[in-house]
Amino acid sequence: MITGPVRSLDIDSKEECPLQLKSKISPHEATLERVDNLSGAVNDRYRCPADFFDFVLDGQLSSDGGYFRLGPHTTCYGRTSSGDRAPRAESVLQDVLREVKIHEAGLRLPFDPTEIIENLRSERYASSRRMGNIFQCLLRRLYYLLRPLTNLTVRKQIQKFQARNWRKVPFPKWPVDTSVEDICELLLLKSMEAKGVEKVPFVWFWPDGASSCLIMTHDVETEVGRNHCADLMDVDDSLGIKASFQIVPQNRYAVTQDFLESIRNRGFGIAIQDLNHDGRLFDNKEEFLRRIKTINRYGREYGAKGFRAAILYRKPEWYEAFEFAFDMSIPNVAHLDPQRGGCCTVMPYFIGNVLELPVTTIQDYTLFHLLNERSIDLWKAQVEVILEKHGLMSFIVHPDYILEPDTSLVYKGLLGYLRELSANTKIWATLPVEVDSWWRARSRMSVVKSGNSWRIEGDYTGRAVLAFAKNVDGKLVCEPARAPVSV
Ligand SMILES: [Zn+2]
Repeated sequence: MITGPVRSLDIDSKEECPLQLKSKISPHEATLERVDNLSGAVNDRYRCPADFFDFVLDGQLSSDGGYFRLGPHTTCYGRTSSGDRAPRAESVLQDVLREVKIHEAGLRLPFDPTEIIENLRSERYASSRRMGNIFQCLLRRLYYLLRPLTNLTVRKQIQKFQARNWRKVPFPKWPVDTSVEDICELLLLKSMEAKGVEKVPFVWFWPDGASSCLIMTHDVETEVGRNHCADLMDVDDSLGIKASFQIVPQNRYAVTQDFLESIRNRGFGIAIQDLNHDGRLFDNKEEFLRRIKTINRYGREYGAKGFRAAILYRKPEWYEAFEFAFDMSIPNVAHLDPQRGGCCTVMPYFIGNVLELPVTTIQDYTLFHLLNERSIDLWKAQVEVILEKHGLMSFIVHPDYILEPDTSLVYKGLLGYLRELSANTKIWATLPVEVDSWWRARSRMSVVKSGNSWRIEGDYTGRAVLAFAKNVDGKLVCEPARAPVSV
């Protein structure tokens, strides 16, 4: 984790409410940013041999952050050492690709790659939409104030109003944003060019050479949903899926030992969902710290290593208070969620010690009630993009929202589609807790030269597979290696 003054680029959150604007680090302090980990975030994606990435900063970084482009299609946000940075993503953005220069066997860069990747993954760019944030924040407040008094139809109308104009939002890219992957690919290709190599070894993304990873998660919202969990597990089992159930510990429904065991004993997973689902978890830090103690206690009690906040509200800079191994609250692109933004990646990543498993596809509720959709076409379109980047497909489907025959059919259609996909492509369908273990182990692996070939070093390398990234007509192609591997 970088801890520099880029934090001054505040993120979208309820703290942006006019009543709670907090003091900010002066822009001047930003110039003192340490730059010793320029390649950290790129190397985390690939885990290439040590020193493969050789980046130096070309000049002094600006004191202000803004939007710019890296090539024709990739939007970045942060500080640069040359050119202009725009305050809005929809402006004409300056392309800094020409400023990426080959220097000896490495690259001279007009930005810090780790910083700009962190700015996307931690949604720091969202602060630049300040007026929009304040408005969104007031709407959110109003929504939760009225919520107990309104029925589902009225709530849907409020949510639709909140999400209006979403199609016009240019960034993050709908339906899936892969800016982080695009930045990494470009810098890998350029580094290969600098070193004069056609291919470079790395640790394949998933165990046993699976081309992609799949997690299904069920957030249990109400008593009705809780009572539907057993049937839902039957449906999942019939199509070969084990899912994780996110349980609200307080106020929503009774959580008995029997209920938790009924999930665990069938090989399904349990994670904590919020505390009481009132939408106030991140309202202010004092209250958050008070609540998180109770939430951590429930985590221990339920044997749950994972967490998800209600309504996908989030404030990653407070996550150090979590005693959870992983979090699943940050959407890839959040145009239709009450808290806008998005982490712009389809890969897990660390926020301090907490591993983030981003939500990379649209939620069932949003699909059914905001978009009024009863087909799986959008899910398919998202899966296609994720597969191309060998990413994590993560789904949120609520037992509460697939009770009607039409929506239940849509869910079964999704499972059928994923099963068909797995028959043709090797996909690692697993529980979030397994993804957490794998990604942690992988983050400690490295590729080392061994005589005439390469091998992977680290703990638990049993399922790890050596892979190669190749330059094929200027495009990066990543593939697991066919054994045996020689240089
Ligand atoms: Zn929920």
